[in-house]
Amino acid sequence: MAYRLSATRLQTYRRCAQAYYWRYEKRLPGPAGFGGTALGTSLHRCLAQFHGDWDAQDPQPSRAWLAQCWHAIATDLNQEQQHEGWQLLETYYREQIQPQATWQRPLAIEGRIQATLVLEGIEFLVSGRYDRLDLREDGLHLVDYKSAKRLEPPRPEQIDVQLGLYQLALEQRYGQLKSLSLVHLRSGQAYCYGCTTQQREAVLAQIATLAQQIRSDQQWQPQVGEQCRSCGYRRYCPAVNAEAEPIPETITSSSDRRIQLSLAL
Ligand code: SF4
Repeated sequence: MAYRLSATRLQTYRRCAQAYYWRYEKRLPGPAGFGGTALGTSLHRCLAQFHGDWDAQDPQPSRAWLAQCWHAIATDLNQEQQHEGWQLLETYYREQIQPQATWQRPLAIEGRIQATLVLEGIEFLVSGRYDRLDLREDGLHLVDYKSAKRLEPPRPEQIDVQLGLYQLALEQRYGQLKSLSLVHLRSGQAYCYGCTTQQREAVLAQIATLAQQIRSDQQWQPQVGEQCRSCGYRRYCPAVNAEAEPIPETITSSSDRRIQLSLAL
């Protein structure tokens, strides 16, 4: 079985090998994740239909088509959510659709990025998700919609890992990735990040380090720093807690990791 890898996993490993070990090797429950809200899910579905099913003979998708998609999808939301959602979509249309005179149907919508990669004799399954993949004259561009109240721009090191990993994953199937845009639906603003070969090389080096760690199975070292403040494992971590609790028995005994060590031919 290939070893699963995503941008979130690699970012965790970069921040602290000990936290990575507990979360992904031991599957020790950490802080609860943030599930998608009903409104956010409906907005994503609406935009998938809006971009994926519009009549591409028109130069750009119309506002009427956007309204039609929203009315069909927002039926399970209450009135307040329907109204709020439409306001966000109108902002998106005004800021993102109207300024561009001609549009093309995206290459893919709400897709899953998946690719295999062999490093240091270990087969990794790299995965991620995207909302829209556009093919323009200069190459591939990923677009992700964000519906949170406030969009904190990602830290440069976070975006570098994400872009490096996505380049590696997409090049096998589609070719060279040029950029990632995060579109904040509440403000209509887009934050665009360009891809570089340095991001790709840095991620390859990080995966190689992770592979060496997995193979050697030596101790996963804690890395004390700013990240400890929001770490969900503080209670178990002797590096920051003199009275650290032991890891629960059920976790310590159910940690078998099955990975495929690829044999070089
Ligand atoms: S508290 Fe800090 S050192 Fe301990 S696991 Fe979390 S991030 Fe790592």
